[in-house]
Amino acid sequence: MRVLIAASLMAAVALPLAAHARPSAAPALALTSAPAETPKVHRIEKLAENAYCIFGQGGNIGLIVTAKHAVLIDDQFERLVPGLVEAVRSVTDKPIKYLVNTHGHGDHVGGNVVLEKQVSAIIAHANVRRRMVTEQAKLEPAKRGGLPELALGSEDATERARLNIHLDGTEIHLLHMGPGHTNGDVIVGIPSALVMHMGDLFFLGMLPYVDVEGGGSFEGLVAQIASVAAWIPDGARIIPGHGPVCGKKDLLRYRDFLQAVQAHVKANAGKDAPALAASFDTAAWPEWKPRPDFVTWETLFSAALGKGPGRVTRP
Ligand SMILES: [Zn+2]
Repeated sequence: MRVLIAASLMAAVALPLAAHARPSAAPALALTSAPAETPKVHRIEKLAENAYCIFGQGGNIGLIVTAKHAVLIDDQFERLVPGLVEAVRSVTDKPIKYLVNTHGHGDHVGGNVVLEKQVSAIIAHANVRRRMVTEQAKLEPAKRGGLPELALGSEDATERARLNIHLDGTEIHLLHMGPGHTNGDVIVGIPSALVMHMGDLFFLGMLPYVDVEGGGSFEGLVAQIASVAAWIPDGARIIPGHGPVCGKKDLLRYRDFLQAVQAHVKANAGKDAPALAASFDTAAWPEWKPRPDFVTWETLFSAALGKGPGRVTRP
């Protein structure tokens, strides 16, 4: 079983791993008939009658199709939007009514600036909007845009927030449980399809990134994953922010992994991140691999100690 898991992860990890990195650094995979000038990177996986995952470069995208509309969850990068829309059109011609952002990182909201002209509203946590406003203040006015119009929650990230969308008889639940990957994460659930998009609260295939400087919290992440693991139904399909579509057993394993990291920190009080990384049984968790250009064992343990930035920073 371990071999099977490792093999499937290796295959999957080759696809969407442009996480937080330069989009051009990612491998491309074309299964759509996009025009020559459109980056051919998208691949669609059907998860339920009305729910899909779209892989490309950057964070995984969710697609929900209701009786009259489509809903997108995240949108990767601006330059990939034509290919993304083409991928959506390969399964439905219904208009995209809502775009939901799971959080504010550029590989999840980069397409907002283009898609805002095509959707009725962009929906995200209040801190996603706040983060984007701050980041866009540095840009030329002409390059700004794509801010969420509908913001749930408050700037106090510890305040839980929930929004239920009722669209053509399909319920879509947005849930913010506190600081985790960032200070503005939402989990998106489609109960009728037993599908959940967990955004970057869930990394599979590589070590998770906790954006400490963006209000994220390793302790909060562990608590959220443990909470979801306690109530997620058997048979649910989970879209992680990065990695292959998976299920409850993978989430339970992820919970165990995070709790092992947490326990290692507590059992070795006073040790710094390099010492913690060196003494942790990394071989016991082959599903989570370090990336020298992104999250290493040292940066993960640094985040677990409450120190940023939680990832390797470029000079
Ligand atoms: Zn992220």
